[in-house]
Amino acid sequence: MRTLVIASGNAGKIREFQGLLQHLPLNVQAQPQGFDVEETGSTFAANARIKATAVAAMTGSWALADDSGLSVNALGGAPGVHSARYAPTDPERIEKLLGALSNASERDAQFCAALCVVSPDGSVLIEVEGHCDGWITTTPRGDCGFGYDPIFEVSGTGLTFAQMPLTEKKSHGHRGKAFALLEPQLRDLLSA
Ligand code: IMP
Repeated sequence: MRTLVIASGNAGKIREFQGLLQHLPLNVQAQPQGFDVEETGSTFAANARIKATAVAAMTGSWALADDSGLSVNALGGAPGVHSARYAPTDPERIEKLLGALSNASERDAQFCAALCVVSPDGSVLIEVEGHCDGWITTTPRGDCGFGYDPIFEVSGTGLTFAQMPLTEKKSHGHRGKAFALLEPQLRDLLSA
């Protein structure tokens, strides 16, 4: 069976991918412990590609990487690829973002998730992106999820990600949409 290494040091992310990929004929593994790749790209897709390429070369197996974040129009796309490092903790990141938008009437924003599968010779086998449009609320709402979920209201739902059950977040969410694009392409590759 083909091995697919998840290019992430985050145990939660690895478990999530193992669950998503469980119906495919794949031996899904975590990347070697302690391996860290610097995310130097200026786009989510570039960072996913950097991580997958490094891990595929290092392990000699296909590697799958993801990169995601939140882009706010009024802030020129920030925090964007710096979403995870915008401030030290989730509450501080939320406070900083709400502060940056305190006088803004235009609050449109978009979550993006890029996924990339690379082979050990550096060939990019699959590259997909999922998006979710919405806007930044003026105060946090809801207790579910993580990160910026309490201040991101999803277009057409009236709810923030943090007010949605996980199944609903998956169908509206950027990661769920990216995975829905990835899965059939991965199936095709495996049966080729
Ligand atoms: P990375 O994809 O692990 O580099 O992390 C991206 C960062 O973007 C996370 O640490 C969160 O701050 C933010 N982020 C990405 N996806 C979500 C989401 O679904 N909800 C809330 N925040 C998210």
